[in-house]
Amino acid sequence: MKRTMVKKRLLDGRDCEKCLHAEELLRQRGVWEQIDQVIIAEEGNATSEGMVLAGRYGVEVAPFFVVQSDDGSEQIYRSVLQFLREQFPDTPSESIRESVVLSAESLAVLEQAYANRPPLEIITWALQTFGQECAIAFSGAEDVVLIEMAVRTGYPFSVFCLDTGRLHPETYQFLERVRKHYGIDISLMAPDTSALQALVKKKGLFSFYTDGHKECCGIRKVEPLKRALRSYRAWITGQRRDQSPSTRGEVLVIHPDEAFVGKEGLLVKINPLAGWTLAKVWGYIRAQELPYNPLHDRGFVSIGCEPCTRPPRPGEHERAGRWWWEEETKRECGLHIAETPTTTAS
Ligand code: SF4
Repeated sequence: MKRTMVKKRLLDGRDCEKCLHAEELLRQRGVWEQIDQVIIAEEGNATSEGMVLAGRYGVEVAPFFVVQSDDGSEQIYRSVLQFLREQFPDTPSESIRESVVLSAESLAVLEQAYANRPPLEIITWALQTFGQECAIAFSGAEDVVLIEMAVRTGYPFSVFCLDTGRLHPETYQFLERVRKHYGIDISLMAPDTSALQALVKKKGLFSFYTDGHKECCGIRKVEPLKRALRSYRAWITGQRRDQSPSTRGEVLVIHPDEAFVGKEGLLVKINPLAGWTLAKVWGYIRAQELPYNPLHDRGFVSIGCEPCTRPPRPGEHERAGRWWWEEETKRECGLHIAETPTTTAS
């Protein structure tokens, strides 16, 4: 067997950052010595050995890995995590801190400590502490940044997405692209069939335009979220303070979730991007060449369900395109606000 890593070298002579992170991860896991050769794909030089290999295998990302078996068959990996998982299944992942007991008080101390730390550091703490019992809530939009950073930590993690059944086709395609790009599982959480059928039978498919989005969001988003979170001890969201000064201006980085319960009762909510601006998020996506939802190229900023999302108009705030027919202070779907007793299901 022969394992080859193909790294990209940029026009200015530096190695691409993702390739460096992947190499670091392989070293951390103690398998670097089992990479038989490293081949360089020189940006702008189609005849460099790595570029020729990329062309041969139809790969557009770096790094990638080629594994040649003794029988001559070849396996291509576009994701370092998948490569690690399949090629070195017995290699223990970084140890996760065990039996961490967190209280509201200890979370307040952590919030102070991490309030101004870079998102990658916050995510590293979260995944070191909770591993797969920490889930990224991925909406299929610019919060792909969270997945990229989680991959970089090298720690295990989970990802779920609320499949409301009303997402844009582009969002479903993007979810699939992200799944393949990173070689990760994304759990799709569907609404409860009976509740959904009852709503549609009684009020049709577009009741939110006349009597508000809460009932539909409650069935298609909040209840599935509640179900998903019962499997985890912590969750990571892409909430930022600059998304909506009226509803998200006070978002903390680490805090106990007051709206939902987790596997062991207390659920920790982590918002690593709380202090980032939209411009910073997009600066990161562009600089790291992350995959993104093509709807962003058509003017969409905050992306939710198809019937309830439109691109904001010039001068409007990014979330102005969500439930635009409702008052600004009511434009939250219930995922990030404490519920009133009447809406809290058991
Ligand atoms: S965003 Fe619109 S379609 Fe989606 S769950 Fe809420 S009300 Fe329903």
